[in-house]
Amino acid sequence: MQQPSAASLSKILLRDAVDSDNGIAVLDANNIFLFHNRAFACMFGFPDGAMLGKHYDDMMAWAYTHRSGPLIEAASLDEWLAHVHSRQRSVRFRSFEVDLIDGRWLLLNEQVHTGGEMVVLCTDISKQKKVEFELKQAHADLQRLALTDELTGMPNRRHFFQQLDTELARARRYRHPMCLAMLDLDHFKRVNDRHGHPAGDAVLRHFAAFMRQHLRAVDMIGRLGGEEFAILLPETGVEEALFVLRRMVEQLARQTVDAVAPGFAYTFSGGVAAADDANSVDCKWLLAGADQALYQAKSGGRNRVNAYLPDANAPAPADAA
Ligand code: GH3
Ligand code: MG
Ligand code: MG
Repeated sequence: MQQPSAASLSKILLRDAVDSDNGIAVLDANNIFLFHNRAFACMFGFPDGAMLGKHYDDMMAWAYTHRSGPLIEAASLDEWLAHVHSRQRSVRFRSFEVDLIDGRWLLLNEQVHTGGEMVVLCTDISKQKKVEFELKQAHADLQRLALTDELTGMPNRRHFFQQLDTELARARRYRHPMCLAMLDLDHFKRVNDRHGHPAGDAVLRHFAAFMRQHLRAVDMIGRLGGEEFAILLPETGVEEALFVLRRMVEQLARQTVDAVAPGFAYTFSGGVAAADDANSVDCKWLLAGADQALYQAKSGGRNRVNAYLPDANAPAPADAA
């Protein structure tokens, strides 16, 4: 069989490309459609040939009113078109993604020629985008899991310390007060021993919800491990922090967790350290201070909150780690 010449083979291949599912369009320098294939029209919701001789803006206006074509998130069509015009022909070649009202995604390649004419190639990349979104979602889920305590849904130790670092740096920079509190449930081992581990878990979840309820939205809570929690109180001096936490001690005393046992109640102890002069403290110092105050609250009888009161001449608190 005779092989086709290079020229006729090219013609066949180009015709195949025009007949394929990839969109092809040619616009003149004034944005009038000189050519488009069936796939291009279809991608934007037009019948085959409908765009020929029409202005780009008119076709987009038609698509806009018929709820087809690109997803337009601008306040108005005019605003969107002004944005498109500022980009079109700004460079010889550009490649960008467009999402359509019907949920599909297109990859558009625009090539500008010397007379201002533009060849547009358009590929449906919806499948790739779906995989991309799923991967992004999976990544976000994994990140959330890595930073969240599964039992209480609170930030875990790692996440809490990241937040503490950031917040302390901010407090230092602006010389704002902040406090760190360490809370520990009292005699929690007994809860497990008397009522079982699942009941202990229910108490931990109760305490997490209780804290959330009684603290401001800006206060960051974390579960450091076991029955030990930490709270970061931004823009808060030691007196205010003590007031808030002591009020929580009183409020918890009025609650029962009947799911554990009828009339079941529990208490917590807390220690607070303040970064009032934020320039002179670091995370380690704050943690050690709060831990020392917590230790004093425990040895003072539990069910109370103490503050770490640094003496300017005293050595730094012992390392809490
Ligand atoms: P204290 O008042 O001195 O803090 O006494 P405590 O009994 O609370 O302290 P201790 O450190 O002796 O016991 C803590 C207990 O917390 C022991 C451990 O079994 C329990 N615990 C740690 N993590 C969990 C958990 O995720 N679920 C349950 N149910 N118990 C836990
Ligand atoms: Mg305890
Ligand atoms: Mg403990």
